[in-house]
Amino acid sequence: MGKPIKVDKKYIFVSGGVCSSLGKGIATASLGSLLEAHGIKIAIVKIDPYINVTAGSMNPFQHGEVYVTDDGAETDLDLGNYARFTVAPLDSRNSITTGQIYMEVIEGERSGRYLGETVQVIPHITDCIIERIREVGARDVEIVLVEIGGTVGDIESIPFVEAARQMIQESSQSVISIHLTLIPLISNDELKTKPTQHSVKELREIGVQPDILMCRAPHILPLELRKKIALFTNVAVEDVISAPDVEESVYEVPLIFYQQRLDKVVLNKLGLKSPTIDLSNWERIVNIHRSATATVTIAMVGKYIDHSDSYKSVEESLWHGALASNARLNLVRIESTKLVDFEDCAKMLKECSGIILPGGFGQRGVEEMIHTVRYARINNVPFFGICMGMQIMAIEFARNVLGLEDANSAEMDPTCTHPVTTLVNKQHDTPLGGIMRLGREHITLQKDTLIHSIYNTLKIEERHRHRYEIVSDLIPSFHESGMRVSAYSTQAHLVEALEWSEHRWGLGIQFHPEFLSRPHTPHPLFRSFIANALHLQNTPTSKSDIASVAYP
Ligand code: GLN
Repeated sequence: MGKPIKVDKKYIFVSGGVCSSLGKGIATASLGSLLEAHGIKIAIVKIDPYINVTAGSMNPFQHGEVYVTDDGAETDLDLGNYARFTVAPLDSRNSITTGQIYMEVIEGERSGRYLGETVQVIPHITDCIIERIREVGARDVEIVLVEIGGTVGDIESIPFVEAARQMIQESSQSVISIHLTLIPLISNDELKTKPTQHSVKELREIGVQPDILMCRAPHILPLELRKKIALFTNVAVEDVISAPDVEESVYEVPLIFYQQRLDKVVLNKLGLKSPTIDLSNWERIVNIHRSATATVTIAMVGKYIDHSDSYKSVEESLWHGALASNARLNLVRIESTKLVDFEDCAKMLKECSGIILPGGFGQRGVEEMIHTVRYARINNVPFFGICMGMQIMAIEFARNVLGLEDANSAEMDPTCTHPVTTLVNKQHDTPLGGIMRLGREHITLQKDTLIHSIYNTLKIEERHRHRYEIVSDLIPSFHESGMRVSAYSTQAHLVEALEWSEHRWGLGIQFHPEFLSRPHTPHPLFRSFIANALHLQNTPTSKSDIASVAYP
């Protein structure tokens, strides 16, 4: 039998019903932000019921961005939402997958941990899940929010919902369940509650009665409808909360939940009291955004553009950067493979005041990205290359300025005679998953460079997720011809940043600043990039001006 479950902290399980993509991550993160606004220390755990051990091996077209933590875990993009809405620390233990749980149990079985027992989903898998959740609860926090990915009713999520049931059963004063469902709008004016009724029924069949319902709908639900939902689901009407579509930005969600007293409802159910809440941070952001009159147009050219969440953190960071300049972001997303040639590329990018090239893997769309970089370089348009974006900047320069026609990354063409990036030696014999440079590392900036002026310090730490490194033999030619290395990794002296000398703002970086940008503290690189794009937009007469402007 399973061990007795000791519940000493408060836990909130958030599950989803009816269908996926209802914004469970944003809802969980927003509730987290409200609890933090009460001064409560929280932790957030994301459960992903897929069998992949981490999100690192998954196609961004299917699952969107891979979010990387300081300790190098490749996790679901919802951790990025938690990071942007809360200050709850996140590392590899905040991301749980079916793959990890089964691996742990099977390794335990092989090493004799369960000798004599028949190893089963209940209690062994569920115990392992509960242990992982409680491990986060053992940290210096009062409340742990646990988001169960997927939709209730999916085969994969059953052990996780069962683990939640066991914890609720042990202490219903300390563990509560929130269920987020869809209220679809039929023929323009009729909101339908039936799918929600069924979803709650499904959850109850597994033994979990939700304490709170969050109902995703186009707008705030009328009282009559909430009463109906309450009646059919056995949830009090004041515990039926609307999760309406937001007009302006996701950062309005905490305020919308607060207006419906979600924080009070949750605290009451957990037996916690907090007389005061400070939401000024969120009000400030929403107000700046609502009153912004300027709009900055940025082109993002990438290879996974057709999945809206593939560059989630980059898009959010651009939004944060625009906020810092009191501007709205007009993001023009361009799938790189759709750019036919350089002329087509120039036509597409003509109206944009800044161009960003985010990360990616593999050959597809790379030649078109090289045109994009060339356009930005010769037209003096603010250009920001991230990870693969920086590597493409190096390829473009090697081909079009140094004249090395077949220059390429060894990733795209392992046999090319002028590789611009390669694997470093020890990576060659390691399996694919083991050769990625992952997580936070120290970086040393070079004096009197653009990047130095932006960070205003020489020592920084940023997160990484890549395999290939710039070939050091090329660096002297780069320097002589107008592109300098402006940052190196402190330990291994690997190239971390490249910048064009004769350019207003042309910067490529090997690391991922998008994982550290927050709406309340936009990342300096995004602030500076946006400020310079806005400057070009506002003063087009300065077309040949190569001095960058300071960010606000
Ligand atoms: N594919 C490149 C590498 O592995 C860049 C990775 C990225 O952009 N995250 O080095």
